Amino acid sequence: EIGRDRQARDEVFELSENAVAVLKKRYLKKNEAGEAIEEPIDMFRRVASNIAEGEFRFREGEEAKRLYEGSKEKFLRMMLSRKFMPNSPTLMNAGRELQQLSACFVLPVEDSIDGIYDTLKHQAVIHKSGGGTGFGFSRLRPKNDLVKSTMGVSSGPVSFMAVFDASTEHIKQGGTRRGANMGILRVDHPDIEEFIECKRENDKVNNFNISVAITDAFMEAVEGDTDFDLVNPRDGEVMRTVRARDLFEKIVAGAWLNGEPGVVFIDRINGDNPTPQFPIESTNPCSEAHLPPYDSCNLGSINLERFFVEGERPGEGTVDWDELRETIHTAVRFLDNVIEMNSYPLAEIDEMSRGNRRIGLGVMGFADVLIKLGITYDSEEGLAFAEKMMKFVDDEAWEASRSLAEERGVMPHFEGSRHEARGDRVRNATVTTIAPTGTISIIAGCSGGIEPLFAVAFMRRQADMELPDVNPEFVRLAKARGFYSEDLMKKVAEHGSVRDIPEVPEDVRSTWVTSHDISSEWHVKMQASFQKHTSMGISKTINLPNDATTQDVEDAYRQAFATGCKGIAVYRDGSRDAQVLSTGKTR
Ligand code: ADP
Repeated sequence: EIGRDRQARDEVFELSENAVAVLKKRYLKKNEAGEAIEEPIDMFRRVASNIAEGEFRFREGEEAKRLYEGSKEKFLRMMLSRKFMPNSPTLMNAGRELQQLSACFVLPVEDSIDGIYDTLKHQAVIHKSGGGTGFGFSRLRPKNDLVKSTMGVSSGPVSFMAVFDASTEHIKQGGTRRGANMGILRVDHPDIEEFIECKRENDKVNNFNISVAITDAFMEAVEGDTDFDLVNPRDGEVMRTVRARDLFEKIVAGAWLNGEPGVVFIDRINGDNPTPQFPIESTNPCSEAHLPPYDSCNLGSINLERFFVEGERPGEGTVDWDELRETIHTAVRFLDNVIEMNSYPLAEIDEMSRGNRRIGLGVMGFADVLIKLGITYDSEEGLAFAEKMMKFVDDEAWEASRSLAEERGVMPHFEGSRHEARGDRVRNATVTTIAPTGTISIIAGCSGGIEPLFAVAFMRRQADMELPDVNPEFVRLAKARGFYSEDLMKKVAEHGSVRDIPEVPEDVRSTWVTSHDISSEWHVKMQASFQKHTSMGISKTINLPNDATTQDVEDAYRQAFATGCKGIAVYRDGSRDAQVLSTGKTR
């Protein structure tokens, strides 16, 4: 036990300074004076034993105890070695009073004052507990439509969205962060133009990401350059007819301006919905989880970088597939236990979540592992590796879900599901999703999700000085390969990228690519490659240079549709006033 403990501690000490800072600020248990009363290792222990308690829900006596001990050990090891991290709410809340473990929820918005304000309350309850919420506003009657009971007129989806936005503003999560929302409106809703433009000014509806739910019929109308009907959801009446291409141009213009709106291909999402008995009309805030109303999703991500094994000579490294397989199986068990141990904010969510048992296992550290393997992100080899990797994760995750079904039973909503239709006895409606991993990738010390590196180095302002902050792995490599110098590191930080720096060897320049080096076409190709073997969606930013045109954005949107993506969001460099990170580049 002591030996194991020591080993565990050693591994925790591998957390970076940034990771420890983030944990202290938001994750560790605090006393009333606001001081952390647990160490990072205590947090991981708390999470591992709490989630392992899920074993007692399915077995009894000695067998349950044995399963509990085994799971606890495996769960702990997998987190301490930074091979796997659950989403933030699980790290924060497992084994504590709140016990709210999910990152993603979708709530219904009914076309009635009662319905809207019930959901408003539910949104507040979820935000308070650290979850993000998505809403489909498409069932709301349009602006100025009749309200029978009062003979008045409705104020429409965009105006109600502002109510949800304002409420978000006032609920701080755990006293630190504000909630996040997704607002979705169908492209055939009569208020669609107002919706598309509601985030034009960068200071409006700031607590929402917005997406247009694009239908296949709409894309056909765009292709054929025909007219398109906007329909009142209250009675099915056609209220207006527009030229589909004009509407598409408005969506594209908004995305070019500041990245809003994104789009989701709603018919495709429903076409692949494993629980068609519960239709999907929205996603979670970062749009990777496609959920019917009242469903939730627990995310967890595998840090691919940890599965790289050094070869005999540089450039001969490989992936430890056996170890990866084992981690995937443990992670699926972990996430299925999370569903069990979760304390859901509403009875409806409890029922839906336990019934569908959606889990979202994803990956992070993808860029890191590519660099170690010497594979260029934006290359055919990069795409092929992405596909192979994700197919492996998805196949193994389904295998794990099948064995869980044998052990614990199929998901309660199996009847009527696509899995039942195929005779595939699984325990989870979905198994894989690619999350942004905004914070957990910092905790794990790896590149975020499936994104390329943001920068090889950047200038960081510290104590009133501009200092280069260089990727430590790059520093190590530069020293080993003999091209390290302080001047060069400064130059790299000023450029952000190494692609055009002749002092850096050719092969290094081609693998150390950053999101800005990569064309939007390749960003979309990578998203499409991952989507092929992912049950739900992909969180991916399609970066465009500042001087990109609206045509470039349109091309990316069309390419995403043509290549099987479930949605797309673009970001044109510098197009929002406050950019969190910035490379040294001045524009
Ligand atoms: P993390 O790394 O903290 O686990 P991600 O960046 O992977 O989280 O985001 C996953 C999901 O968590 C998002 O899609 C969203 O549903 C939810 N989420 C992220 N940030 C917030 C926030 N500030 N408030 C509420 N939910 C959030």
